[in-house]
Amino acid sequence: MRNIQLFQSSILHPLLFAFFPILFVFSYNTSFLSFDELFFPSLLFLVLAATSWLILKTAFKNTHKSSVALSISIILFFSYGHIQNSLLDYGLELHGNKILLPIFLLILMLSVIALIRTTSNFKNFTKIINVVVLTMIFLSLLNLVNLDNYTTNIDLEPDTTNLYPVHDTPPNVFHIILDSYSGYDSLKKFYDFDNSEFLNELEEREFSVIADSKSNYGHTFMSLPSLLNMKYLDYGKNEDFDNHRISYDMISDNIVMKNFKAMGYDIIGVSSGWGVTRDFEIADRTYCATFSRIDDSQILISILDNSAIKPFYAKLLVDDRRTKVLCQFDSVPKYIENNKNPVFVFAHILIPHQPYLFGPNGETLNTESLEFGDIYQNRNYDYIKQLQFANKKTLELVDNILTNSKTPPIIVIQSDHGSDQPENASLEDQMNEAMHNLNVYYLPYGGESILYDGFSQVNSFRLIFNYYFNGEYEILEDKHYWINDNPFTNDGYPEFIDVTNKLKL
Ligand SMILES: [Zn+2]
Repeated sequence: MRNIQLFQSSILHPLLFAFFPILFVFSYNTSFLSFDELFFPSLLFLVLAATSWLILKTAFKNTHKSSVALSISIILFFSYGHIQNSLLDYGLELHGNKILLPIFLLILMLSVIALIRTTSNFKNFTKIINVVVLTMIFLSLLNLVNLDNYTTNIDLEPDTTNLYPVHDTPPNVFHIILDSYSGYDSLKKFYDFDNSEFLNELEEREFSVIADSKSNYGHTFMSLPSLLNMKYLDYGKNEDFDNHRISYDMISDNIVMKNFKAMGYDIIGVSSGWGVTRDFEIADRTYCATFSRIDDSQILISILDNSAIKPFYAKLLVDDRRTKVLCQFDSVPKYIENNKNPVFVFAHILIPHQPYLFGPNGETLNTESLEFGDIYQNRNYDYIKQLQFANKKTLELVDNILTNSKTPPIIVIQSDHGSDQPENASLEDQMNEAMHNLNVYYLPYGGESILYDGFSQVNSFRLIFNYYFNGEYEILEDKHYWINDNPFTNDGYPEFIDVTNKLKL
């Protein structure tokens, strides 16, 4: 009896249609997203749908009709970008949004007029539509089954291996990741951009620049766990390795931070607003974590990027995203003075990675999407503008740290991988562009002597712990691994291909 009432409930389908896109995006990105990321978007959309339903109910004076009107609006709203993309696949560009958007509005208006005029009470229709949307939800839920059952025995280096600072005053340590910052030769070859001015400026400040540096992996989700745990991702053939969870856990629960914590350091996180580097449980303080919840939600950004407000949602949120990046640069040097304990500051800064938000001097750009994963058909030179801005802010940040430090600090600035390639790039170019990266160090007390040609990130903190903290880590052979595609989009074990001898520019 209760089931029958449920199927007849007219508010059910608009609420479920509002919830469906969240579940849909989530179920296809379970490896990137954690369950708690479902909460805010769901609450937001359900409240919006329920409020709209109450308003329409008053206007239509008929609950079934108002629900149908709302469901039609919701479907049109969320399907806009998907339909636009499908038309693009058939070569129908339709002048951006100038034709498609009015067509959608017209469909909505005609539907509402038809609803007002019709004499049907929509009772049966409500039942059918409820069954349809419940089936859609059920199918999406099927994708989520087996989500949480991975087991693995990743062989992590033992942390806290009797480390202690060898100098009287332990140095503050700053670890800055500039996401997708490409290497010198790669910028020259692929963008015809000469980045020597920035590198010279760093060298003038006694930084060591690793020439021809290559990341050990070509994707964030492999590079970060590797460098933060000072190891290669030799997961072993693992049946259960079907999502990002292992990488996810290796980033949030990493050896480098645990080692510093064990030595009495305060761990300072600078929130990236993205995935696992948004906040670290181990952190004593986290900065820049209080920005727009909408912009912070990858689910919402992905949904909006395909919705009827696709043409302008980025304009609404771009300021927030810009402020966040600026906050990150400002927050890194905060703890150089007057902190009781030494600090390890970790900042995963999301530029020069797309979306492109900054011109060379911080000017606004024409940012149309806030998605991180867009693939461009052609090279987007806004990347260089944003990289120049990253250069400017990085030098300011470095000067701030160096001028105000009482004890010489350790500063590591590196990128997790190089730049993105346009759609049609050859495999050789893809590998070289994705893996040639930035890798620079400020190492006081003669620490630069530990660096060598071909030095790669898997060894960054092995050397730092050994030289400054009496560590006894083995220095690993510097190797570079490529995977043909993002392995986490497919089920199964990622096949890492050793391309150490193939990377040449
Ligand atoms: Zn990255």
